[in-house]
Amino acid sequence: AELSEELKSFMETGIYRLDGSNVVFIDPVRVLNESYSRFALSPSDYYSRSFAPPKSAFPAEAVPKKRKRKPKPHHDLNERERVAEKRHQEARALLLSAHKALLAAADLLGLLPQVMGGEGSSHGGERAAEKNFVELGNHWKAPFCEITLGLRASNEVDQGSRPRHDVGRAVVSLFNNLIGNETNDDVEAEFQNCCYILPRRSSFHMSDLRQIRDLVPAQSSQGFNLIVIDPPWENGSVHQKAAYPTLPNRYFFNLPVKELAHEDGALVVLWMTNREKLRMFVEKELLPGWGVTDVTPFYWLKVKPDGSLICDLDLFHHRPYECFLIGYINVDVDFQCTEKFKYLKSSQVIISVPGAHSRKPPLEKLLLEHIPGPKPAKCIELFARELTAGWISWGNEPLRFQDSLYFLKK
Ligand code: SAM
Repeated sequence: AELSEELKSFMETGIYRLDGSNVVFIDPVRVLNESYSRFALSPSDYYSRSFAPPKSAFPAEAVPKKRKRKPKPHHDLNERERVAEKRHQEARALLLSAHKALLAAADLLGLLPQVMGGEGSSHGGERAAEKNFVELGNHWKAPFCEITLGLRASNEVDQGSRPRHDVGRAVVSLFNNLIGNETNDDVEAEFQNCCYILPRRSSFHMSDLRQIRDLVPAQSSQGFNLIVIDPPWENGSVHQKAAYPTLPNRYFFNLPVKELAHEDGALVVLWMTNREKLRMFVEKELLPGWGVTDVTPFYWLKVKPDGSLICDLDLFHHRPYECFLIGYINVDVDFQCTEKFKYLKSSQVIISVPGAHSRKPPLEKLLLEHIPGPKPAKCIELFARELTAGWISWGNEPLRFQDSLYFLKK
């Protein structure tokens, strides 16, 4: 059957607007792929998370049935839990109607298995061990680690029948160094026998929080208009502890968010966990400390490939959604609403099928009209694990998802 206009546009952009403008389904793979010319993320590698219940080594009857966790009755909650429950109830109506809108988009749901399966894995299911950049960066040898950027012939030189080839190499320090691909093509970089794909006009700075001030621009006219932050919040779960190191909340006061912001304004996106204690700390102390105002909560609703929620909406300690807060620095709302800039007023819901643990969907395209200041906006991601065309990615493992194993050649 003929694809609807919205579906055609989704296949091109990875964005499907549901239910007016406040609910959006996104395919992060399609959105991220706009950063690359010769490479493409492999969908089956991105969507590698399994939602099937873990297979048991024991026959069904030998396994004691797990009791399903029910929401706690209201009278059993302590004060903070009651506040959290109230917040959940407020978000609930918005999330339910967003999910309803997704379930009504039968054309989109019908296409999802195909969108996510893609053309198969780039490495036939065999995943080589990922490099542990966090460990490498802490090693005494870190200052001696070098990465080799392969610079290619420009397109004009390339257009004959001659095969493309490297025309030069740049060897640079890997850690504590701002490394950029200034070209308009993907660059392949080599480090310890692994290849990393650097999208056009992307930069990264792989360092610890102690070095972050290196990114503060000399003048605020060179600052950033979009600042996305996904901190390594402390979290009770053992799983998360194994995934990456975490930091106590007070460390995040040291992030120079205000100094990174552009003088004409910045939109600041801060990812959260669902813990009420954290939410209060962020709203009452951290965001005011950074100078962020006019904060609006957004929600990321996580679904399985069939469109169903990844878990029950009302489970108390495990939610199928995450909240992120969006606010402004240096924006004078009364003067700045123009055709190109719409002041953000209401909450939105982003729906997607999640990828690797803690990997967040890309947001720039969804927020474009709400970013203040000159265009194209200057964007930076703090605690990043991947690169994006036109962005600076900072963190202790920004090359994490750039391994060529996650990419297919176009
Ligand atoms: N937004 C990322 C994504 O979508 O994949 C996930 C970020 S994850 C929540 C937090 C990141 O902060 C991890 O990569 C972790 O290694 C990094 N991190 C932890 N401690 C750090 C430190 N002291 N300095 C820099 N980065 C740190």
